[in-house]
Parts: sequence; C-alpha cells; structure tokens
Amino acid sequence: SESEKHGTVGAVALDGAGHLAAATSTGGYNNKPEGRIGDTPIIGAGTYARDGACAVSGTGKGEYFMRYAVGHEVAARVSYLGESLEKAAAKVIQEDLKQHDIGAGLVAVGADGSITAPYNTDGMFRGWVTPEGEFYVATHGEVFPINP
Ligand code: ASP
Repeated sequence: SESEKHGTVGAVALDGAGHLAAATSTGGYNNKPEGRIGDTPIIGAGTYARDGACAVSGTGKGEYFMRYAVGHEVAARVSYLGESLEKAAAKVIQEDLKQHDIGAGLVAVGADGSITAPYNTDGMFRGWVTPEGEFYVATHGEVFPINP
C-alpha cells in the first residue's frame, strides 16, 4: 500500500520565544539509486525553517521536493505573497506536486502559531499540539482530540 512505501517522520515546532524549527527523518524509498541523497537533508527542499515565516517538513518523492524547493517555496509564499500558511502549503502540495502524480504531504507551523498538514494521498498520519496544550491526531479527514 502507499503508506507502506514511506517511513518518513517529520516534526515542526514554534517555541515560546518565537523560534521555528523543522526536522525530518527518512529511509528514502525502496529501490532508490545507490548513493542517492534525497530531499530530506537538503534545507529548503524536504526540511526548512525560518523565524518570522514558518517551519516545514515534507514527505513524498524527493526529486520533486528538490525541484520545487518545497520548504522554501511555502515560506516564500507566506513571506512575499502574504499568503496564509494553509493556502501556501496547499498550493504546493495540491497543485505544484499533484500535477506530477506523486503522493506528497507536509507538516508546517507558522510564526503566528498556525498549523497545517496538507497531503494529496488518501491519508497521512499526523498529530499536533496547540499553544493551549490541546493534542490532536488524525490519519485521514477525521480529527481526534486526545486528552493527555
Ligand atoms: N522524501 C523522501 C525521499 O525522497 C521519501 C519520503 O518521504 O517518503 O527520500
């Protein structure tokens, strides 16, 4: 299944001092070329954070994340076009990447604390905690609150 092809884990955070951070861990994908370096360790592609803009961690075929500099693209749309994080991230996942027929998703948090996690696959495992300390998890469209 699509979900068994990917083992990527991404995390983004906004701390109390307003700093943004992103981290991504992946094994790449099955049968990748020997010596391939994917998008995950390339800052601006699969992983990106910039104070004042947003933090982004992506999953999907890395060659396209590099081509579109996905993490930076989302931050640029937020910073230079003034788009909301949700709109910027959706544009990249649902339009730029989707046209190539690759499964892709990302998690992102904005400098204003906004949270978004768009994906163009059937589902994507994700979870988040709000500044108020509320926890949520989701796999598909339905969101489940978790009481810690
Ligand atoms: N982006 C990763 C890579 O291309 C794979 C993944 O996230 O599923 O190496």
